[in-house]
Amino acid sequence: MNICVLSDFDGTITSKDGLYAFIEAYAEEGWQNVEQDWADGKISSKECLIEEFRLIPNLSEELISSFIDTLTIDEQFKSFWEYTKKHNIDFYIVSDGIDYFIDRILYKYGLSNINIISNHGEFRGESFELTFPNDNPKCINNSGTCKCSVLKNLKEKYEKIYYIGDGVSDFCVADKADILFSKSRLANYCRENNIQHIEYNNYNDVLNYFINKTITN
Ligand SMILES: [Mg+2]
Ligand SMILES: [Zn+2]
Repeated sequence: MNICVLSDFDGTITSKDGLYAFIEAYAEEGWQNVEQDWADGKISSKECLIEEFRLIPNLSEELISSFIDTLTIDEQFKSFWEYTKKHNIDFYIVSDGIDYFIDRILYKYGLSNINIISNHGEFRGESFELTFPNDNPKCINNSGTCKCSVLKNLKEKYEKIYYIGDGVSDFCVADKADILFSKSRLANYCRENNIQHIEYNNYNDVLNYFINKTITN
């Protein structure tokens, strides 16, 4: 069977929500209101991200690098990623975060060549420009990267899709994955909405599940 694995990034691969921590550390007064508007559903995560980045003065590569030095990832993520490679299982990070950050965090851990589907950020001169190539205004989640559209597209290529996540950005994809691993807010959401899921604490649990069931391609 042709299977693939999709994983959220912030809070799932990283130990905490890195993007949130970055904004909390560097954005000027006012970002909390933007975050609240997003939590209340008044603005989309795309608008939220753009507004919050506007509130970060002197955003530079150095600032981002020094911040990334403080982030850690799940200890067993690398083992799981190696497991997927060994068994020819395509693996994708699907994130409502920013590829610029994701790339650098992974690089710090010697990880490269991982497929990333996310929002795009790059420095153009002095400014950090955000674009949203995987946007879908029709989605209930109204995310910058609509994970349910990403999954729908990948479903044309794969028979079975595993999804690993932890939070709000994973809600729209929760009932569409064939096998869903959930923790934190995503697990609560699944319980409240009777969505089948496997609860996990970390990538060690996911890895053991794959090993015990000998899931391969
Ligand atoms: Mg997350
Ligand atoms: Zn969606």
